[in-house]
Amino acid sequence: MNVHRLTVSATHAFPGLASSLQQLEGAKVLLGDMAMESLTCIFPPQFAPQVAETIAHYLLTDWLRTEIAREWIRRAGDFDSEMALCADRVVVKFVAGKMSLANASFATWLSRVQVELLPFCTGDAIVSLDGFARFRLREVVAALRAETERVWQHDGRERDFERLVEGLREVLSEQVIQDEELHVFTTPDFVWIADADGFGLCEGEIGEAMDAVVSDVDGIDNEDLAIATLIGHSPRRVVLHDLDPGALWPSFAETLSRLFQQRLQRCDGCDVCRQLAHMEQRFRIQWTQNHRRQQR
Ligand SMILES: [Zn+2]
Repeated sequence: MNVHRLTVSATHAFPGLASSLQQLEGAKVLLGDMAMESLTCIFPPQFAPQVAETIAHYLLTDWLRTEIAREWIRRAGDFDSEMALCADRVVVKFVAGKMSLANASFATWLSRVQVELLPFCTGDAIVSLDGFARFRLREVVAALRAETERVWQHDGRERDFERLVEGLREVLSEQVIQDEELHVFTTPDFVWIADADGFGLCEGEIGEAMDAVVSDVDGIDNEDLAIATLIGHSPRRVVLHDLDPGALWPSFAETLSRLFQQRLQRCDGCDVCRQLAHMEQRFRIQWTQNHRRQQR
């Protein structure tokens, strides 16, 4: 009987490769020396496309994520499980077709790699999959590395933000809750706090609140001041009028709602919000006109 024999070795996720080839109907797998991480797959010629596809799938999933994790260990000298988790998440998204790597979808890469593996599946061949993948998949590896690092850094910023909110919540929990309602207006340019009757909190009061909550006043901005004031007051209810919904994460509004949780309510469009939005638009038109006049 006419059969093809393909012997492959792979140092990454070898048991996974062995089991996916063993599950392939019509193919027979002879495990070589497990310490050498090699196996021989024997199959009739018509099964060559399936064998190539199974190996391509393994390279673009298990091999890829293990390569990134090992690369990280080599560079950092330490195993970072969070980094490995990030790589896993990116690979899962890639396989699900939710993102591309190196400008191509998973399906495109799968068929590309399958086509490149096919010549090895048509006779007797010995292939080092590590060598093949390092050469053929270097663009995918680079893209996965960049995306994994991006996700990892983003997660780091999220962890820092969690710690910040946690610290603020601790300070807030030490304050006695006052039976008042404060309104916070946030725009791209300023934050303004008023009581339920519409009176703004005066500067002096904000300064006192600041001293009570923050000892280090370097690098304090308008938003930090507002948070310090709100913590100092510890009102039962905070109404947030968010006129800057497109603010970059983590926004002031996000920090505030995580800090006050159920004590915070978002305004869904009051007269003041409408007026502020209108004023801001008028201001911007006026500014643009003046600016253009000056340019002439
Ligand atoms: Zn409002």
